Amino acid sequence: MIVTTPAMVLSAMRYGETSKIVRLSTPGHGVVSAIAKGASRPRSRFGASLQVMSLGQAHLLFSQRRDLHTLTGFELAALPVKLAEEISRFSAATAMAELAIAVAAAEPNPDVFSTLVEAVASLERSPAADVPPVALRAIWRLIGVLGFAPALDRCVIDDREVPAERPAAFSAADGGTLCESCARARDVTRLPPEARADLRRLLDPDVPLPTLDPLHSAAHHRLLARYVRFHVAEGARLPALEFWEGQGRGAR
Ligand SMILES: [Zn+2]
Repeated sequence: MIVTTPAMVLSAMRYGETSKIVRLSTPGHGVVSAIAKGASRPRSRFGASLQVMSLGQAHLLFSQRRDLHTLTGFELAALPVKLAEEISRFSAATAMAELAIAVAAAEPNPDVFSTLVEAVASLERSPAADVPPVALRAIWRLIGVLGFAPALDRCVIDDREVPAERPAAFSAADGGTLCESCARARDVTRLPPEARADLRRLLDPDVPLPTLDPLHSAAHHRLLARYVRFHVAEGARLPALEFWEGQGRGAR
């Protein structure tokens, strides 16, 4: 069965002498692994189109027997040129690609694809100073569409209200804020009221981005990375996320 579908390249690895194996995010088929035969040859028909976060139309020959399909063509729609120029933009995008691969569900989720496409567009057009909060919002958005949005108003365990005016206990492992009685026996991060308000703003695409000074920006990078490690992709190795987190610290 040959399928033509919009697709974003999440990873591209050399395979053998001349081929590449790519992971693609697609709206209707989820994350797909495919071999692009001859893609590493100097005059391959794929040219330089199979870059991480490239967007295009993929022609896929689906294998019935295995999970590795064949990419027979890729018509490039957008090459993420600005991402490749700047490490802060690129590291955020690759952390998202890595997360989409790690949490790829059996059921295709079209929102994952559109979130990745929008994230790359906003990372590319944002002024340099806005990249940290834009990246934080984009990754939290991906976490949300993957089904792991954090709770911020109520206790994730017993649904008691967590008052907004006091520092809140936040548990990455449990997936959000905890009331004081649940927090007692657990490993929690303390979120001051301003940090919780900033996190709420990062999670809501309809409000302006918060202004984060370097110290708070670094804290938000740490919080997000911890949340992903303990709650979203438990046990998965996520080197791109670690790198992005380190970038966020380096911005201080
Ligand atoms: Zn509770």
